[in-house]
Amino acid sequence: MKQPESILKLINRFRSLPGVGAKTAQRYAYAVIEMSEADAVGFADDIKNVKETVKLCKLCGNFTEHDTCEICSLRDTSVICVVAQPKDVVAMERIGGYKGVYHVLHGTLSPLDGRGPDQLNIKSLLGRLDGVKEVIMATNPDIEGEATAVYLSRLIKPMGIKVTRLAQGISMGSDIEYADEVTLSKAFEARTDI
Ligand SMILES: [Zn+2]
Repeated sequence: MKQPESILKLINRFRSLPGVGAKTAQRYAYAVIEMSEADAVGFADDIKNVKETVKLCKLCGNFTEHDTCEICSLRDTSVICVVAQPKDVVAMERIGGYKGVYHVLHGTLSPLDGRGPDQLNIKSLLGRLDGVKEVIMATNPDIEGEATAVYLSRLIKPMGIKVTRLAQGISMGSDIEYADEVTLSKAFEARTDI
């Protein structure tokens, strides 16, 4: 039995999302069909709405609905925690207690995928280092994350700024996004100079 075209289209939309396989996509599509008209329209509106209102903070590159995000506006700008993706900011914020700001690179260096320094949000990082005391590298502990941290530390350390890296503890190859709060918190507290 072939499912109606409109349902197949919706299933394919869900399948394009990270971590969603064929069965889950099918379940999601059927859940949408079974929603009330109001809920389904609200769902579609929310998708449209984030595309219209969410932009990148002009200072740190994180998602915001304003020119400058709340973290950049309210927190201590003398400490910058550098992460690869906006979702890593959410992971770091979950551990609580960090008072500094972030800088989102939107990727890591990957010569094989053609991602060099110019493809990342690095220029604006170098432009906001005036008065900064510490830059914390919180890229994932995989090859690309390490290479990115080393590359940036070579640029930043000569400016007389302390550069640190999250301690090992988050196992090699695992993602900051999925690290539990206790592990991430320990890796943060035990960060070391690089
Ligand atoms: Zn910001």
